[in-house]
Amino acid sequence: MIKTRITELFGIERPIIQGGLMWIATAELTSAVANAGGMGFMTALTFPDADALRAEIQKCREMTDKQFGINLTFLPTLRPPDYPAYIDICIEEGIKFIETAGRNPEPYMEQIKSADIKVVHKCTSVRHAIKAEKIGCDVVSIDGFEAAGHPGEDDVTSLVLIPLTRDAINIPIIASGGFADGRGLVAALGLGADGMNMGTRFVAVKEAPVHENVKQALINHGERDTRLIMRTLRNTERVMHNSVVDKVLEIESKGDTKIEEIAPYVSGLVGKDMLEDGEMEKGVLAAGQCMGLIYDIPTCQELLDRIMAQAEEIIKEKFAQVIT
Ligand code: NAD
Repeated sequence: MIKTRITELFGIERPIIQGGLMWIATAELTSAVANAGGMGFMTALTFPDADALRAEIQKCREMTDKQFGINLTFLPTLRPPDYPAYIDICIEEGIKFIETAGRNPEPYMEQIKSADIKVVHKCTSVRHAIKAEKIGCDVVSIDGFEAAGHPGEDDVTSLVLIPLTRDAINIPIIASGGFADGRGLVAALGLGADGMNMGTRFVAVKEAPVHENVKQALINHGERDTRLIMRTLRNTERVMHNSVVDKVLEIESKGDTKIEEIAPYVSGLVGKDMLEDGEMEKGVLAAGQCMGLIYDIPTCQELLDRIMAQAEEIIKEKFAQVIT
């Protein structure tokens, strides 16, 4: 057992968190993570409206009696969501943890906190972590440059970002970006974090509701097979390399990019189709450098068992051998 401020706060057995994954973090995946002793966040924006989110929360409750939370991402979108309506549903359904990501969650803090919900804010810089603590967030999930999806614009890797965040704030920290195994968990704890978040690794598990081709692609691609798109819009996204990504980068290389020019390629709805039909040259797929560390497709239970066994072995045996 590894007990940290994060396991205590969430009431979970293992300090492993499945952060919000657009289109993927549904009841199937999140309940499997919860049943394996970790903490999962279902992604609100995956569901077309607040009622659909309510139905998914109820479905997840039927699949696990353990704790889970909801991710709310505040980033530019092609289809602006009704955030207060999603939050209302979380409150009505008795959700106790919300993971916010992207922009500052301050406009929504009063509504969320009125229901005594704990807020995990996912951000990519020390200054944003300090701000999150100041506005009343309970946890910061700090996302290094290795991460899938939106790693921010500062390009600071987890190795530097996590200890710097630890030095700057007092609330618990979840380390995110580049983590996929027990070695990562030990590193995260050593760097000052209280838990480890995984995104990409949780896509290549049996319970992830995506086509087998997507899971195989994560195994087949390595640490050098990601690209950064939308840098020109200051909305950088780390994605798996494919021909669509090359097309987006070609458009961006001409300068003065407009979202309309690349929207047909980066649209989340096209990406959703790709996750469903497994045609891997159709759209863009957020993926982190830790693809290099993905070799198989276990169940969540197998994955979390393995991570904990590896982490405990390093701490108890390997570390004991090197201390003289
Ligand atoms: P979408 O189809 O609305 O947009 C596709 C991409 O274009 C997204 O990366 C989005 O951030 C970007 N974008 C849209 N409008 C933009 C603008 N005006 N300027 C700059 N960039 C713009 O995205 P979606 O796949 O339906 O996802 C909905 C939201 O969730 C997006 O904000 C997306 O970034 C975010 N997201 C969240 C996660 C997560 O794990 N929580 C993962 C991926 C994406």
